[in-house]
Formats: sequence, structure tokens, C-alpha cells
Amino acid sequence: MSTATSASGAATSTTPTTGGFEEPAPSALLLLGQGRDLASERGVECPGALPAPSDPDLAERARAARAALGDSAFVLGHHYQRDEVIQFADVTGDSFKLAREAAARPAAEHVVFCGVHFMAESADILTAPDQKVVLPDLAAGCSMADMAAIDQVEEAWAVLSDAGVAERTVPVTYMNSSAAIKAFTGRHGGTVCTSSNAQVALRWAFDQVGGEDGDGKVLFMPDQHLGRNTAVLQLGLRPEDCVVYDPRRPGGGLAPHELEAARMVLWRGHCSVHGRFSARNVAEVRERVPGVTVLVHPECTHEVVTAADMVGSTEYIIRALDAAAPGSSWAIGTELNLVRRLARTHPELDVHYLDSTVCFCSTMNRIDLPHLVWTLESLVQGRTVNRVVVDADDAHWARVALDQMLALPGL
Ligand code: SF4
Repeated sequence: MSTATSASGAATSTTPTTGGFEEPAPSALLLLGQGRDLASERGVECPGALPAPSDPDLAERARAARAALGDSAFVLGHHYQRDEVIQFADVTGDSFKLAREAAARPAAEHVVFCGVHFMAESADILTAPDQKVVLPDLAAGCSMADMAAIDQVEEAWAVLSDAGVAERTVPVTYMNSSAAIKAFTGRHGGTVCTSSNAQVALRWAFDQVGGEDGDGKVLFMPDQHLGRNTAVLQLGLRPEDCVVYDPRRPGGGLAPHELEAARMVLWRGHCSVHGRFSARNVAEVRERVPGVTVLVHPECTHEVVTAADMVGSTEYIIRALDAAAPGSSWAIGTELNLVRRLARTHPELDVHYLDSTVCFCSTMNRIDLPHLVWTLESLVQGRTVNRVVVDADDAHWARVALDQMLALPGL
């Protein structure tokens, strides 16, 4: 569990509770920054003066506040952030790179994380205790991370225990998970992984239970697609070696003999952005753009990844386009902010979005210029807002799982 501080500086739990606030009707449409519904991410409150999006001085206000903060603040920007926000980032990257960059800046009292909640948690775990990690809008969550709640994961472990396979199972959790899930993984001898090192992490995990040819298993959370793509395409397991554990069904929807036969127990979670690309999108772009190279993120479905030409993390995608031959055509299957930026920074390339109807990551886009200005100006005024703090026990065990990842070869 993590906590956050409000504009007044008082620590508040981010665990859903309605104490002290009027509970809105289930269908209430809340404006961002005005009122809040603590049972969901809708309309998280930013008390104080959230600037109007129409304020023509927003960029200048952000520049002035950033300059006033100097080295006391460090601003991180994930690749999927809006242009209006990422222009103020001191460093850009994927979630893991950003957490490491934050840890490498112990002089910065405030780390402003322009990304989503699980990333801010990881930064809090990896930074010094006196550094404060701030998320400009606490409504910036991740739908994939939200698909694995800690009580569901504890229940899944009990199901594996009842089936007699837990002691032969190593949990591996994707970076895109809550601190509580990372802590669970640390407590049970597992590791965190990223989309760049999932293959190495899975090999390590299988080695802990007798190697890939034995009967050991991996419980992979929360992205079934990254788990399946890595196991089948990089480790050579068969698709039928993978089963999907559905936390909303009794026993995960799996019989004990299915758990016994499986090598990969995949959590039923996915990214709502990458999960929308289809093999049909790949076929259509090939028809539309002769000679196109299709490059997708491993959070895409197995059908999309196998239909594509190349697959890799956001950092891999950026490197691939940096190294591409001028005039070559590319169709990219990842978040739209990044693809648009790549198209703009590479005018020598013919860059297409894999599916023109897919939208941005809505939670990443919660971080906008009004929230960034509000955050930076509050810090200038001596008020730490929207601080994300992981509780000490979870932070300890999540750190164990993160350190295990850092000890994997190739990082
Ligand atoms: S792109 Fe997908 S995995 Fe990344 S923050 Fe958005 S919903 Fe989560």
C-alpha cells in the first residue's frame, strides 16, 4: 500500500475510503481537479488553484517554477507523456530507466514523476528516504497494474499451494505492477522484470526450480501477453505450456491438473493500449504501405507479435528508429504520444501508427500542463503535494525483488 499527501501536507491513504468526503453517485462525471471519488481514479482532487487549461501563460509559468526550483527538484518524463509535459522533463525514459535516474540524484529533494502511479512508487522505493516523489495527478494510474490486486494475488498463491505446486513456482512480476505486488514477489523469492529483460528474468526464475526442462513453474503477473510472448518466442516453450489464471473465477478458472501440467501461469491482465492492436491491423498496414517494417511492443497480443517483423520495449523501438535507413517505412505498435514524437523527430523516415483508431494511454495523459504547473508552483511555495510513499514493509520486500532484477545479467 502507498500513501499520498494532500496540498495541506497531511498524509492521506490512497486506499479507497470515503471517510470525510461525500460519496458521488456511481455515474457522477467529475471534472479533474474538482471533487473526488476515492473508490476510483475519477476526479482526484487537487486542492488549491489548479490553473485553467486555457491559460495562455501555462508554459511560461511552468518554466518559471522549474527555474526557481533549480537542483532541488528533478523532473522525470515517461516516453508516453504529452509533448506539453515532456518538454519540462530533465530526463526521459521507460519506467525502469526513470526510477534509476531518480535514485542517481540524491541531491534533489523532490522528484516530480510525469508518468503513472506504479512508476512513482518504484521511484520512492529506489530513492533516499529524505527524497519526496510527487505524482502531478494522483488519478494517473495504470489499468494493467490495477488488474492485479494484492488480495487476489495472495488468493492465487493459496490456489497454487492447494494444488501442490507453489513450492515449485517462482513469481515474476512486470515493472507495471503495484508496490504491494512487487513486495509479494520479493517475499516469495521472485524478481521484477521489464519488457527489456523479461527473457533473462524468466530463465533465472526457471533456474531456481530446476531449469526450463524440469517441472518448475513461473507465476507471471500482471501482463499475460508479455509473459506468453517471452516464454514462447524467446524461451521456446509451447503455447500449451501457458495457462491463464483469471482472478475473477474460483480457483482462477483452472483445475489442479492444469496447474500441474503448466510451466507458465499467466495472470489475466493486459495493457488497454497495446492490447487493442490486432493481426488485422498488421495485414492492413502491409497492404497500405509496401515494404513497411512492423515493429510492436511485447505487451501486444501473441497474434500481433508473431505477425510483426520486430518486437521490443519502448527503448528498443526508439533505438531501432534512430538506426533506421533514411526513406524506410515503419508501422509502430505502441502508445500514440511516442509514435507521433518519433515521426516528428525522424522526418527522414516514413513512420505510421499501426492502428489509427487506437487512442492515447488515458491515464498517462492525466498528467497535463495545469497539473504540472500546480505541482511545480506548490513546491516553489514550500508545499509538497501529491507525494507517493510506499509503506516501509512493502518497500523493503519490493526492493528485494527489484535488487534481484538488478542482479540479473545484462542490466
Ligand atoms: S500504456 Fe498500458 S501499461 Fe503503460 S501505463 Fe498505459 S495502460 Fe499501463
